[in-house]
Amino acid sequence: MMFDYLIVGAGLFGAVFAQQMKAAGKAPLIIDRRNHIGGNIFTEDCEGIDIHKYGAHIFHTDNSDVWEYVRRFSEFNSFIHRPLANFRGTLFALPFNMNTFQQMWGVKNAEEAKSIISRQRAELKGPARNLEEQAISLVGRDIYEKLIKGYTEKQWGRACRELPSFIISRIPVRFSFDNSYFDAKYQGIPVGGYTKMVQRMLDGVEIRLGIDYLSNRSSLDPLATKVVYTGAIDEYFDYCFGALQYRSVRFETELFDIPDFQGNAVINYTDIDTPYTRVIEHKWFQFGKDARGQDIPLTIISREYSREWAVGDEPYYPINNDKNNSLYLKYRKLADNSKKVVFGGRLGEYKYYDMDQVVESAIRLAKQELAGGGSTI
Ligand code: FAD
Repeated sequence: MMFDYLIVGAGLFGAVFAQQMKAAGKAPLIIDRRNHIGGNIFTEDCEGIDIHKYGAHIFHTDNSDVWEYVRRFSEFNSFIHRPLANFRGTLFALPFNMNTFQQMWGVKNAEEAKSIISRQRAELKGPARNLEEQAISLVGRDIYEKLIKGYTEKQWGRACRELPSFIISRIPVRFSFDNSYFDAKYQGIPVGGYTKMVQRMLDGVEIRLGIDYLSNRSSLDPLATKVVYTGAIDEYFDYCFGALQYRSVRFETELFDIPDFQGNAVINYTDIDTPYTRVIEHKWFQFGKDARGQDIPLTIISREYSREWAVGDEPYYPINNDKNNSLYLKYRKLADNSKKVVFGGRLGEYKYYDMDQVVESAIRLAKQELAGGGSTI
């Protein structure tokens, strides 16, 4: 054997695991079927702007160990996520807070806002039977109609009345004038982009790109004692119980020869008539400045379209309903019996993971492996 670990997937999970193993004196080999490292957090420099190729990524965490860890590989800027909503040309603050309520109703204090919301909630009697009723019961009809309905229907490709209420068991509402989206203690974006951070994690690790593990298993498996697989678990088992479901997204990216398109990193389009869900203006993740601190004279935006996923498409968001979760458990049983392979990451565990959770989970797995535990997930 030439390697201790063959790591399938050079995304954040694979990179952190590889880094930990290398630091412990093991020999990891990391491969990816894409022609780049970073997985979905991949960023690419274009005209001095780090383009978030697979969607806007804002690092945020409450875990000081994870924060210390990632900052070993990159400086982080002080970006705070403050998205806006555009409903038929009118802008509203997100997440729902006093600025939103002021824009919606002209109210100036929490008491006035609370009383409007509770009056609107009162239209619903009994437990919510679907997402529409759930949303109205949490924030009232105005916010539901203007800021939730169209966006959610585009995201899921179904009417809110046909969606289960559990999808929005909770809607964050603040009664202060605070537009910051995440409550996390630490947040920011790696200076120079995520790809550079991942590159530094993989310093000294052998990387092979453009290789699909599943079609080259017989030649790859003999290279290492153990495999860490971060691809889709159902694909690994050739969809033998059927395919797990995802939502997929598509991006349309455009360069404009103007310094500013929308003045904000992310704007959600919450009406049903605009076909995309969000517009990302990448330069604002770095405050409009290039690596030398100069104003960038042009701008690049990505329109994000949500769509149904089919086998062969890029899977983005797992749909963790009862049907898919029990299907996942069947695959998980098979996985537990595969002694030479360990499954991890968002696709291997069929779980929506934020980046900080991925870092935590990869470090935990590395520790288990180094301790000789080797249990899966
Ligand atoms: P991935 O990044 O998907 O890496 C898996 C890799 O495995 C891929 O590169 C893939 O090509 C490779 N692979 C799969 N199968 C094979 C195979 N058979 N052979 C070889 N290679 C294979 N998190 C946050 O904390 N903040 C955010 O703002 C945020 N925004 C997000 C926005 C979007 C649109 C999405 C979808 C996710 C967002 N996330 C965010 C979550 C974040 O993207 C994930 O936590 C993280 O990327 C998961 O890393 P991973 O290594 O598990 O998976």
